[in-house]
Amino acid sequence: MQKRNTVLILGIIAFAIMIIAQMIIIRGGWKQVDEMLYLRYRSLSQEANASLRGSRSMVFDTVDYLLDYYTESTVRELSQITDTQQLENKKEEIYEYFSAVLNKEQDLSQYLSDYFENQGAENEFTHRIVITNFEILGADTLVIYRDPSFRGRRSSSDSEGLAHSLKGSTSTILVNRLRIIGNYFTLNFNYYIDLTFKRSMILRELSASLGMSIFSILIVVIIFLYTYRNLMEEKRMSNLKTDFINNMTHELKTPLATITVAGKTLEMERIRTDESRILDTAKMIGKQSVHLNQLINMILEISMWERTEFQLDKKKLDIEEIMNDIVFSFRTGCGNCASLTEKYTFNGAKADIDLVYFTTLINNLLSNAVKYSEKESVINIEGEADNNNISIKIADNGIGISRSDQKHVFDKFYRASSGNIHKYKGLGLGLYYVKKIAVAHGGDVTVNSKPGKGSIFTVRIPY
Ligand code: ADP
Repeated sequence: MQKRNTVLILGIIAFAIMIIAQMIIIRGGWKQVDEMLYLRYRSLSQEANASLRGSRSMVFDTVDYLLDYYTESTVRELSQITDTQQLENKKEEIYEYFSAVLNKEQDLSQYLSDYFENQGAENEFTHRIVITNFEILGADTLVIYRDPSFRGRRSSSDSEGLAHSLKGSTSTILVNRLRIIGNYFTLNFNYYIDLTFKRSMILRELSASLGMSIFSILIVVIIFLYTYRNLMEEKRMSNLKTDFINNMTHELKTPLATITVAGKTLEMERIRTDESRILDTAKMIGKQSVHLNQLINMILEISMWERTEFQLDKKKLDIEEIMNDIVFSFRTGCGNCASLTEKYTFNGAKADIDLVYFTTLINNLLSNAVKYSEKESVINIEGEADNNNISIKIADNGIGISRSDQKHVFDKFYRASSGNIHKYKGLGLGLYYVKKIAVAHGGDVTVNSKPGKGSIFTVRIPY
């Protein structure tokens, strides 16, 4: 358990380190591509700006006209306001109006968009206009807004410091600082573009390396899980083998102990004179020797299967007839240990069956049904044949098998819940045997069970 947890924890740590390392690499790559795109679009904006220089005044002509028209009436209104609060409100209103009109302007954006497209670059961007200085020119000059960083009246042709980004952002590029001088106002503003497509562009650029890192992480995870599963499987097998050895020792010791006691009994003088006691003891020795022999044969047989192919001696047999024989022998053999009912609709079906192995298969299922029961056992056997298969269901009212155990009961050496349950004797080989035999006949066996209610084993064999 401890080893398993250590492997798991180490695996998770290694995995986390690997993901972090990959993230650092990808982040570095992302930054690089981001910077590269920024530089490219910055220089494109600069080029566009330079080529626009001649016709720049045209670009904001409509805006110029609109704003002048608006300011003309506003100047008069402003001169009549005496209250400071009212003046502040009015200034705010004027600012909002200017900002809205400027931001609705599309001519420069259209120009840039066409320019980018001509240069083979993506032209998805949004523009943003930020006013840096705004004065109304009435009888006196009234400052409506002035950005603290505004450094005086630049001429619109001043290209110094153009086309750089807003602080800390590589998505927003300052394309131009512009100035409009109307009849009643002076306005300085910055024109920015936001590269809306940038994220998807970076992703496209990085897709190969991203794909490769996801792929390599996946491969490592798969290898880890595979190795971990194998390790667990090995551990499980080794536990099962240990349980098997314990169970087997226990199973072999019981008849041996009985034989030893019987031998000692025969040595006693008063027994030797009693013929009937000698006979009873001899019978007991014989019975236990047969049991011992069966156990050893079973173990030998199973170890032989591991090395050679399972050899069946199949014959076409009437399935209903052989089922009747097997159940009859079982019933008499176990001294009516269970109440057995049978219902067959085989319709005379004949299947290729090795009688010896098939008998063992049914006997194992029936003896388990009796063995794993805490009350008087009731066993219902149903059999039917469809077009391709015969199926035999053996249902009992025993202790049942939990869902997690159901997955393993057909495994070699597996015993439900605790591997070494001496309450019910066994080696964990009976169902393994059943499965092997069913599969060797080209069929299968399945289990359906509810703990406390009973189990149904279904054997399917093609015919
Ligand atoms: P064994 O009986 O020797 O332990 P089996 O391979 O026959 O080995 O069975 C494997 C396990 O499946 C058993 O240990 C038991 O827990 C469970 N099992 C098998 N048959 C039944 C049944 N009819 N009812 C309840 N549990 C069963």
